[in-house]
Amino acid sequence: MRSAMAFLRLLSRLGMVAVVLVLLAARPASADDHTVPTFAPACHAATGADRGVEALRPRAQWTCDSSGWAADEPAVWLRFEAESWRGEKLPQYFFSRIARFKSITFHAIDADGTTRTTRSTERDGKPFAAGPVFQLRLPEVTPATTMVLARIEAPHSVPLLTEARITHDPGKADWAQIDMMLLAFVAGMLVPPLLFDISFFLVLRERFVLIYAAMVSAMMVYVMTAGGLASSFLALPLTLMAVLAPLSYAIGGGLSLLFLVAFLERGAQSRLMRRLTYATGWFTIIVPGLCALQLDATHGLDDTGYFIAFLPCIAVISAAVIEAVIRGSRSARFIAIAWLPIITASVERLLRGLGLHVGPSSLDQMLYVAVGIEVIVISLAIADRFLALRRERDAALTEARMLEQISTRDSLTGLMNRRAIEARFDELLAQGFDTFALVDLDRFKAINDLHGHQVGDAALVACASAIRASGDRDAVAVRLGGEEFVVLLRGPRTLERAEALRQAIPMRIAKEVPGLDLPVTASMGVVMLGEANRHKMAFAEFYARADALMYEAKASGRNRLAYERLTVFRSAPEGRKAGEGRAA
Ligand code: GH3
Ligand code: MG
Ligand code: MG
Repeated sequence: MRSAMAFLRLLSRLGMVAVVLVLLAARPASADDHTVPTFAPACHAATGADRGVEALRPRAQWTCDSSGWAADEPAVWLRFEAESWRGEKLPQYFFSRIARFKSITFHAIDADGTTRTTRSTERDGKPFAAGPVFQLRLPEVTPATTMVLARIEAPHSVPLLTEARITHDPGKADWAQIDMMLLAFVAGMLVPPLLFDISFFLVLRERFVLIYAAMVSAMMVYVMTAGGLASSFLALPLTLMAVLAPLSYAIGGGLSLLFLVAFLERGAQSRLMRRLTYATGWFTIIVPGLCALQLDATHGLDDTGYFIAFLPCIAVISAAVIEAVIRGSRSARFIAIAWLPIITASVERLLRGLGLHVGPSSLDQMLYVAVGIEVIVISLAIADRFLALRRERDAALTEARMLEQISTRDSLTGLMNRRAIEARFDELLAQGFDTFALVDLDRFKAINDLHGHQVGDAALVACASAIRASGDRDAVAVRLGGEEFVVLLRGPRTLERAEALRQAIPMRIAKEVPGLDLPVTASMGVVMLGEANRHKMAFAEFYARADALMYEAKASGRNRLAYERLTVFRSAPEGRKAGEGRAA
């Protein structure tokens, strides 16, 4: 537990470092990040799949401001104009935000109408380690070039269009170095909670820990791919990067809901909300998950569909957390703190994804940082829950021990009861308890009849005290029921010791229960096992033999002991004697 607390302290320190980094990342991009200029398209237009470059000559079809972006068009045209790079180096590369598309055709058009055209497909796009971006080579741009047109066929996302730029530098994108550092930090931050979760699971075996670990893994894939960090050390194809990022986010989002169902305390959710949360969890994994694949068949639907299909997730998470907080859930308060930033950032991303507001890609940093915060706070919540569950479990264990005590003890005398001795009999035999002394009080019914049950009870308690031999590790006393007891003995001279106990009974009863006219004596049937017979006899068999001896003792006048000593073969007892050890 101490190491867990130390770990929590470490996590909170990491959290503080994260905050500092966020502040650094949130500063306005400084000029030195942009010494290499990048050029945005001046205008954009959408056309049918069959329209060629000629169709775009009339100016009227172009939109030359930041409105009207849509990914659900067969083709979208971007127009980069030479005025923008006048006086700068000629652009050679196109780059944009990673998403799937069918092809991109570039036309470099000179003043005299000469046009150089290249066509690239998704496979040609190279993700590079400067953000969630990919790059394509432009056809040659000369000083005579007046415009570069890019025709993006079947684009699957709006940012693929709005964030398209051209530049002369192959390593250049609008993402600053600090952004990548922040991403690396967030990705790194996800590792300890993941290890934390695994170790929790080993102790706790709670399903929510597993779901959470899966969720953190999904978020890790998201941060690595959506931020383009994976390109720093892996040359993943554009298609994979384009699919993994939204897919992992959808899976992470869906798992969040499933986590909520598993994590919230019993009673923190109404039955309806529970079902809704569960169903929305699977919906989010499946529907936005399917959109994330950006298949040909879903083009025109998937970009908007992806973001819209997240709405239930956000709505249900918010409603479920609010409901749970109202119902007094402690875990829900942690979740509210953890998920507020991520929900806020997701809503922003959603609005941007839907094209309802246009913002720079660097706004995504909010989401990555929110993911980092979320993971840390939920780890704290899990730690908190871990401690609570442990406390609960300890309490349950104590209660179970108490119950066990109750169920193995005789309530009147406090001796072990029959159930306990039967359960432990083999163990006691193995520990060397080789003498079984059955005790039965003589004419006990008469005590009850003469003095009443209460006096009878007091006599039973006194008898138990006499045979308990407390502190003697070589004698175990049991009340089998009624006025019948058993003493198990081991060590030397067990027969003599049994007889001494038997004789102690009337004295003890006389001392503790005044007013009895006659001494309450006891009879005994003692079975002794030889070494060779140990482990071989069942309780029932012992009992039957001792009972038979008891009958002999009673028959020959009571207040005496009858015994038998079993030697090597159980079937051939060495001696059977009754009437010995009569009380003086
Ligand atoms: P003997 O064993 O010498 O043959 O005679 P006995 O009178 O002891 O015989 P029996 O076993 O028939 O009677 C046992 C009596 O013990 C019956 C019952 O009234 C009494 N008894 C059994 N359990 C309790 C108990 O918990 N409290 C009291 N007060 N009496 C009990
Ligand atoms: Mg009796
Ligand atoms: Mg009896």
